[in-house]
Amino acid sequence: MQSANIENIVIVGGGTAGWMVAAAMANRLPQKFCRITLIESDAIGTVGVGESTIPHIRQFNETLGIDEKTFVEKTHATVKLGIKFNDWAAIGDSYFHPFGEHGEITQGIDFHQYWLKARAMGENHDLEEYSLAAMAAFAGKFPLSTQNKPTVFADYTYSYHIDATAYAAFLSEYAQQRGVKRIEGKVVTVEQHANDFIKSVTLESGECISGDLFIDCSGFRGLLIDKTLKTPFLDWSHWLPTDSAVAVPCERTGALKPYTQATARVSGWQWQIPLQHRIGNGHVFTSHFLDDQQAIDILMNSLPGKALADPRILRFKAGRRQYSWQKNCVAIGLSSGFLEPLESTSIYLIQLGVSKLLELFPDKSCHQAEVDEYNRSISQQYELIRNFIILHFHVSQRNDSPFWEHCRNMPIPDELQHLLTLFAESGRTDIGQFGVWPAVCVGQGIIPKHHDARLDAMSNQQLAQFMANHRQKIQQMLSTFPDADDYIKEAIARGAA
Ligand SMILES: Cc1cc2nc3c(=O)[nH]c(=O)nc-3n(C[C@H](O)[C@H](O)[C@H](O)COP(=O)(O)OP(=O)(O)OC[C@H]3O[C@@H](n4cnc5c(N)ncnc54)[C@H](O)[C@@H]3O)c2cc1C
Repeated sequence: MQSANIENIVIVGGGTAGWMVAAAMANRLPQKFCRITLIESDAIGTVGVGESTIPHIRQFNETLGIDEKTFVEKTHATVKLGIKFNDWAAIGDSYFHPFGEHGEITQGIDFHQYWLKARAMGENHDLEEYSLAAMAAFAGKFPLSTQNKPTVFADYTYSYHIDATAYAAFLSEYAQQRGVKRIEGKVVTVEQHANDFIKSVTLESGECISGDLFIDCSGFRGLLIDKTLKTPFLDWSHWLPTDSAVAVPCERTGALKPYTQATARVSGWQWQIPLQHRIGNGHVFTSHFLDDQQAIDILMNSLPGKALADPRILRFKAGRRQYSWQKNCVAIGLSSGFLEPLESTSIYLIQLGVSKLLELFPDKSCHQAEVDEYNRSISQQYELIRNFIILHFHVSQRNDSPFWEHCRNMPIPDELQHLLTLFAESGRTDIGQFGVWPAVCVGQGIIPKHHDARLDAMSNQQLAQFMANHRQKIQQMLSTFPDADDYIKEAIARGAA
């Protein structure tokens, strides 16, 4: 009797998405249970960007049993404590969005509420001064976690800057060692069953590869989810108008800055991502307001070191597939959608896609209830992140170009408007992980009108002491941390010992 279980999984695409999926599946699905094949085309290549990550990648690596030393060494990684936003609120302003909370939640009240009351009392310390990650980042230090975590560590976390191509290569080795079969070749045709389920893909060489479950990791091409299954794309470019980027690596200069920099430009923004051996740079812009040469000039004139390659142009459109999972095909990575790289969330969405798929792992019939649950949960995350990114553009006070005028005046999604109004009124935030975060709102000049009324039970003197203690604790700890550069060198040496 034919088994109802998935016996053959075919992954089309070997970029970051394809190899993350292959590695996670090889780790979680016993080889006896099913075969995994990944097809990638050297001639087509990968998008080759995507170097800034968020802390969830550490959990992904941990689940795969990858230790920090191996990861840091193989991907030329550096540590990331958050993002420094330059010129977003207004030209000349900057703020830091750290990973983790500011201060600590005390008596169930968010720390920024204490900061608001202190501000109303006349204190003028920036919110950043209460973030261990932000203060360490400015000092070029890396906070080591300890067994007896002091309280300001409570919500401290970190991530990495990585060489995306090296990460995919590392995961490729990992996955192949665990039984994943790699095939090099270009898929030219896709065959379907009578019920539209995908049956097989055929390569230029004529080789035909059949499967029960297909993972579309073919990038912007969306070879299966779009070209074959014709899944509609929800276009969000009216909210996220950037549609192009120019990227170029340059030599690394000076001590390591353990954070990503995002500098607002006249019709977009520019990233700077330091790795061990180079800095990744890019300028995200909208082609409606800037031509390619202007975008290239802006980037090349503000590189922190000598360019190591020619600038490369990339095109994209913000939005997502209406359904990431259709029939027996699940789109993960750029084939499933694209959001501005501003908060470095794409790799996280890949991680989410594969872990959700493993959680809901289907049999050959791909029951609709599981498919619906997958699509519901992925679209919810896309929308949370989308709103969080729109926020950065919309609340800017810049009025120096048509781009910023557009962003300030565009209608925004209702849920985001609600959260913005809520924060502006009382500093309350959505507890969802991509809610309206105090760092970004305050950083861009939205100071809530009221603080939490429960804090009025605290005297001004008590509050002043409480705030001073926080600043002092952070300053004391800073002096004990290594330089971020040294942490990386030691992480590699520690593992090698
Ligand atoms: C400008 C920019 C900046 C970004 N910055 C960040 C960032 O800082 N942080 C972050 O998390 N993400 C970032 N991203 C997103 C990140 O690059 C992607 O999420 C990630 O690289 C995954 O891409 P992918 O694997 O889906 O697609 P790709 O890298 O495009 O891989 C597609 C694969 O499919 C294969 N393929 C395609 N067609 C065929 C075919 N016919 N036959 C066989 N194989 C085929 C290709 O050969 C390739 O192997 C950025 C994206 C852009 C555009």
